[in-house]
Amino acid sequence: MRARETSDAQNRAKTEFLSSVSHELRTPMNAILGFGRLLEQKSTQLSPEKVSNFANHIVRSGQHLLNLIGDVLELSKIESGHANFTIEDVVAPPLIAECVDLLKEKAYEVKVALIDNSDADLPPLATDRGRFRQIMLNLLSNAVKYNRPGGTVTVASRVLNDGVHNTGMVRISVADTGKGIALDRQGQIFEPFNRLGRESSEIEGTGIGLHLTKRLIEQLGGAIGFESVPAKGSTFWVDFPTGVAARGDAKRDASPQADADGNFTVLYIEDNPLHRLLMEEVFADLTSARLTTANDAESGIEMAVALKPALILMDIDLPGMSGFEARARLAESRETSSIPVVALTAGAPDFDMQQGLAAGFADYLTKPFDIERLIGVIARFTSAPRA
Ligand code: ADP
Repeated sequence: MRARETSDAQNRAKTEFLSSVSHELRTPMNAILGFGRLLEQKSTQLSPEKVSNFANHIVRSGQHLLNLIGDVLELSKIESGHANFTIEDVVAPPLIAECVDLLKEKAYEVKVALIDNSDADLPPLATDRGRFRQIMLNLLSNAVKYNRPGGTVTVASRVLNDGVHNTGMVRISVADTGKGIALDRQGQIFEPFNRLGRESSEIEGTGIGLHLTKRLIEQLGGAIGFESVPAKGSTFWVDFPTGVAARGDAKRDASPQADADGNFTVLYIEDNPLHRLLMEEVFADLTSARLTTANDAESGIEMAVALKPALILMDIDLPGMSGFEARARLAESRETSSIPVVALTAGAPDFDMQQGLAAGFADYLTKPFDIERLIGVIARFTSAPRA
C-alpha cells in the first residue's frame, strides 16, 4: 500500500509537471503564431515600426521557447537518472573566473559590477566540471538579472568547518545588491516554473533554473540555500564536497604508501566469487598494484587494519554488515580513516551518487562496471600505471 501511495503521488507530480510544461510552451507559442499571423495577413497595412515590433516579439518568444525546451530536456534527464556525471578533482577558482568572464558583457549592459573574491587556495572539489559551471552560471546570471543599475555581484568561497573540524565541504556564495525576494515568496523559490511574480516582467527567464540547480547540486552530494532581504539583495550559496586530494592532505600522517617493492595494495571486499575473479583479471593488467580480496565486511575491515591498503573497493550489498556500515567503521578507526573507499554497487546511478558521497565514499562505480573507468579510478588512488 505504501508503495502504491508513493507511486500515486509520483504520478500526480508528473501530471502537474506536464501540465505546467505544456502551459509554459503554449504561452510563447501563442505570441509567435499570433504576431506571425498578423504579419501574414496585414503586412501591407502595418507601419514599419509595428512590423519590426511584431517581428521582435516573435524572435524573443522563439528564443524563450528554445531556452525552455533546453531546460525541460535537461531536467527530464536528471529526474530519470540519465544525466552523466564525471566526478573528478576540480580546481574551482579558474572555473569561477571563467564564468564571471562569460557574464561580463551582460553585466556591463545593465551596469552591474562583478567582483570575484573567491579564494585562490581553495581545496579542489570532488565534482563534475561541466555541472559546476552550469550551477555557477545560473547563480551569477540571476544575480545580474535581478540586480539594479550601479549594483554589484560578489563571489566568495570558504572551507566549511563545524567550529573544530573541517567538514570536507566548500561553500561558494554569490551575493547581489538587487531586488531581493519577498518574504512570503521565499518558500517557492525552488519550485519549477515559479518566477515569483516576475512572469510578466521585462527580465527574461523560465523559472526552471533554480529548480534544476538544486537537483544538480543534490545529486553531486552538495546543498544549496539563500538569504534575501527585499530591496537590499540576496546571497545564494552552494556547498560542494572537497576532492580526494584535499581529504588526503588533511590526514597526511596516515596516508597510504606503496610497500617496500613499490607496489600498492588494493583490497576488494566482495562476496560474489565471479566478481572477485573478474577483478583479479583486471588487476593482471596493472603494474605495481596488487589485489587482495575479502568476502565479507568483517574480514575486510580486519585486513584493512593489517595491510593498510592504498585503496579499498567495497561492494555495497554484502551479506551481514553492509558496505555503508563497513565504510562508517573504517572511518571511525584512526588506522583506516584515511584510506579512500570506492563503492561498487548494482543500484540506480543517481541514488548511489547522493548516498555514496554523503556516506564519505571517495567515488563509486556501478555494476556492471566499465573496466576503463575502473582502471582510471584505481590509477587515480594508487598511481598504478597500466601494463
Ligand atoms: P528564472 O530566472 O528563469 O525566472 P530561476 O529558477 O533561476 O528562474 O529563479 C526563479 C525566480 O526566483 C526568478 O524568477 C526570480 O523571481 C527569483 N530569483 C532568483 N534569483 C534571484 C536573485 N538573485 N534575486 C532576486 N530574485 C531572484
